[in-house]
Amino acid sequence: MLELIAGPCSAESREQVLSTAKEIDSIDGIKWFRAGIWKPRTRPNQFEGVGDKGLSWLKEVKKTTSLKTMTEVATPFHIEKCLESGIDGIWIGARTTTNPFYIQELSESLKGVDIPIFIKNPLNPDIKLWIGAIERIKASGAKNIYAIHRGFSFADNGIYRQTPYWKMPIELKRLMPDIPIICDPSHIAGQASLVREISQSAINIGLNGLMIEVHNKPEEALTDSSQQITPSDLSTLLKELIIPQNIIENINPIFTIREEIDSLDFELINIIKQRMGLAIEIARIKKEKNIPILQVKRLDEMIIKRIEKTQGTILDKDFIKDIFESIHQESIRIQNEIIKDKNN
Ligand code: PEP
Ligand code: MN
Repeated sequence: MLELIAGPCSAESREQVLSTAKEIDSIDGIKWFRAGIWKPRTRPNQFEGVGDKGLSWLKEVKKTTSLKTMTEVATPFHIEKCLESGIDGIWIGARTTTNPFYIQELSESLKGVDIPIFIKNPLNPDIKLWIGAIERIKASGAKNIYAIHRGFSFADNGIYRQTPYWKMPIELKRLMPDIPIICDPSHIAGQASLVREISQSAINIGLNGLMIEVHNKPEEALTDSSQQITPSDLSTLLKELIIPQNIIENINPIFTIREEIDSLDFELINIIKQRMGLAIEIARIKKEKNIPILQVKRLDEMIIKRIEKTQGTILDKDFIKDIFESIHQESIRIQNEIIKDKNN
């Protein structure tokens, strides 16, 4: 059984929370209602969540639906408030997981408390930081610990808001096989149209559940508006999700490897894109200084240096030579375009 969590990025009003929860409750299989009350915003002077009063709305969700409630905590004060109001679970956000001081404080205030705790991966792809946070929280005595894979921040995330970098949850599964991993496709996607495909990838590699941001009116959401889906979209997404047999407990190696291959290929495309960006930059300089585009000596040296890198590997020298000649040719084509273009 997949562990399914749905709800808005942020609790915004009592009406929004209750009506979204009611619709989510009517979808089969959803166990948890999520809503952020204290929001970690990257820039100041933005909506930072409704604060404590949102807890009473979550309490009403608990009373009026069959859903369990959860919110994000980042300080011992948040934990205290959540426990007072009888919340069922908490999650620790990516920005908090990044800092062992904060995690240690949270762990200390969780001593003797036994509610499910969901730990998001840190922003940067550092498996030790993620594992360290899980170990610290475990030390509080918590027995129900889950990890949440919500993607990682790279300088260039391509089509994603956060790069999925599937290698990382796979590695966590290998190193901590007892910790169930939930995927948060919403923060990976950054746009509603990608949520379904990322959810399927997560299931394909054998992750144990999904946390999806759902809002009754996504276009009016005060935070993460473009990535939230409606309850009816969620219902369709779950119906269309293909759950391969025998995969939930044991990661299927073929899917896992395919996801990694896709991921690496997308990274390659990104790198080539960056590489061609440099061609544009150099073309502008050559144009300004009136330097010819092609310097044969530079090409020969370039190819030799790259072939040297294949030593001791399975990579064939001719294969690498072909790839870089082709990349170089494309770079020359782009440079020619720039030089021809009068507006550049
Ligand atoms: C969230 O779940 O709304 C959130 C802020 O997530 P993250 O910590 O993954 O950015
Ligand atoms: Mn969000």
